Amino acid sequence: MNLNSKVTLLFAAIAVGILVMLVAISLYAFRSYSISSSTSHVRTAAEVVRVHLTEAMIQGTIEHREQFLSRLMEVQGLTVARVIRSPLVDQQYGAGLLREMPADEIERAVLADGKERYELREANGDTLFRGTIPFAATTAGTPNCLQCHTVPEGAVLGAVTLELSIADLKRRALLTVFILQAVVAVFALLAIALVRRAIRPVGEAAREVEVAVQRALKGDFKTKVKQYSGDEIGQIADDTNRLLSYLDDGLERISHRVVQLTGRQPRLDENKLEATIDMVNGLADASAFKQAIEEDETKVEIYDRFAQILTERFGIDTFSIYETVGKQLTPITVDGEPGAACRWCDPQILVRADMCRAKRSGHPVDGLVQPGICYAFQPSPDGGAARRHYCVPIIQSGSVGSVIQLVAPAEKAAELEAQAPFIHVYVREMAPVLEAKRLTETLRDSSLRDAMTGLHNRRFLEEYVDTLIASARRRNVPLAILLLDLDYFKVVNDTYGHDAGDTVLKALSGVMKQAVRASDLVIRFGGEEFLIVLQDANAEAALKVAENIRAAVAQLKIQIAGAVLQKTISIGLALFPEDSETFWQTVKFADVALYRAKDEGRNRVVRFTPQMWEGNAESY
Ligand code: GH3
Ligand code: MG
Ligand code: MG
Repeated sequence: MNLNSKVTLLFAAIAVGILVMLVAISLYAFRSYSISSSTSHVRTAAEVVRVHLTEAMIQGTIEHREQFLSRLMEVQGLTVARVIRSPLVDQQYGAGLLREMPADEIERAVLADGKERYELREANGDTLFRGTIPFAATTAGTPNCLQCHTVPEGAVLGAVTLELSIADLKRRALLTVFILQAVVAVFALLAIALVRRAIRPVGEAAREVEVAVQRALKGDFKTKVKQYSGDEIGQIADDTNRLLSYLDDGLERISHRVVQLTGRQPRLDENKLEATIDMVNGLADASAFKQAIEEDETKVEIYDRFAQILTERFGIDTFSIYETVGKQLTPITVDGEPGAACRWCDPQILVRADMCRAKRSGHPVDGLVQPGICYAFQPSPDGGAARRHYCVPIIQSGSVGSVIQLVAPAEKAAELEAQAPFIHVYVREMAPVLEAKRLTETLRDSSLRDAMTGLHNRRFLEEYVDTLIASARRRNVPLAILLLDLDYFKVVNDTYGHDAGDTVLKALSGVMKQAVRASDLVIRFGGEEFLIVLQDANAEAALKVAENIRAAVAQLKIQIAGAVLQKTISIGLALFPEDSETFWQTVKFADVALYRAKDEGRNRVVRFTPQMWEGNAESY
């Protein structure tokens, strides 16, 4: 109920209350007035009757009393005028007229106790006031009653019953009450109209403020409250407008900056305030994310943390992260599985990175609004429901270093589209950190690799050995260590020059890399000495690999300027932990075996035996 209705109702209730009270009070007052005025009329008339009857008795014309009464009846409003004789008078003077006998209980009671009685009653649509007044014998007046009546003083000699019609009086009273009611009602209506008029600006202003507040709650501060008056209400409207425009201006500025930072424009039907709060929260979270990843040690940790954000904050489970390596893409994680096979794209992208549209263009690929934009995307590789994709390239050092691919069922495309700007914020925060990490890793890698052959160096082995041993122990598998040394290599340098020697070393590296599995390690251990760690290889398997390498080297024809060279290699083999409990001791044993191979005539593989060590221990 609004203010206007409330005030109207209040005033109407007050007016009705006043009217009811007025009517009740007036009716009561009129009734009291009618009764007391009629009582005094009846008393006066009774006194007139008494005086006339007394006079008639003295004059001896008492027989004509009936004529007097019938003339009295001609008085307007008088409906009954009757005289009743007491039995005492009948005793003294004989029975009177029949009509002078008491007619009802009231008259009998009045004759019996000498007390006046009055009655108000309705009859035949008329309102009547009746009074029965006794005449008592008294010596006080002139003449003295007891001169004629032989009765004790105070005895009731008779009574007179008079009845008046007060219908006219009642009608006038009711008319007066009605007029009073009408006047009060008119005044009440007038008062209500005036009050309504007076409070209308309050109501209107309150309604406008309410509308403005409702809109503000929905993020729209552009509403203006109309100023209806120059009083306090007008002041409230003015202050509200100033507050609204202050908030609107503030929100506009914050939102503008936030849109610049996130690239997300709030929709027209959206609560701008909530959208801005959301965006600010997104920026704050992304900034916290950046701080966290800056302290991460490797790129893998950064990708893991980003994957966690995608899953936990954005609720995205199907996403992949690819990293560019040369002209290829390597899956870092696919649908949360580290290093899993490419699932949502043509696997060709792994070997020809440029097949990936995001990698090729360096721009986000929005398959949410443009399904089918990328030919490499496979909408339903498992034959299930069709999916949409959104791919974001991460630019590092001016080129695409990684690609994030988000995949969602078609019905969730809109939801993902709404999240995309926030994900971009994270990607933007992540890019420079990834770039820095990539640079550090490259620098570090270069210090752990031999530039000429591209093989890991001895320092790498020293750093990596603990991980290697822990992994072998955990999986309970042996490691085979091969130590390789070219036979008569010095001759190459001496005869064809140092460059020819280098060519031989490079060719040899290629042979060794090809002969082992990807999980095995080939290390340039020193000048023309190499060390190979074979994972999960027993003596038999390791001897086979070593023999393969030896044979491949022996058959290898190396083209150098002006000649084709063919060299042989000697290989020593020892097993960890079979030959020794420590890794470096095993390396030493492989070296002992290598020397044995050289001693025995070179171009051969020798497996270490403890006897070899017994003979050589002192020389180490
Ligand atoms: P052996 O059969 O006993 O092994 O005879 P060898 O001539 O190979 O003797 P050794 O293994 O001691 O020879 C090491 C030579 O390898 C010495 C050095 O000139 C050469 N060398 C070491 N590092 C390099 C390199 O990076 N490039 C070239 N060209 N030669 C190297
Ligand atoms: Mg050597
Ligand atoms: Mg040698």
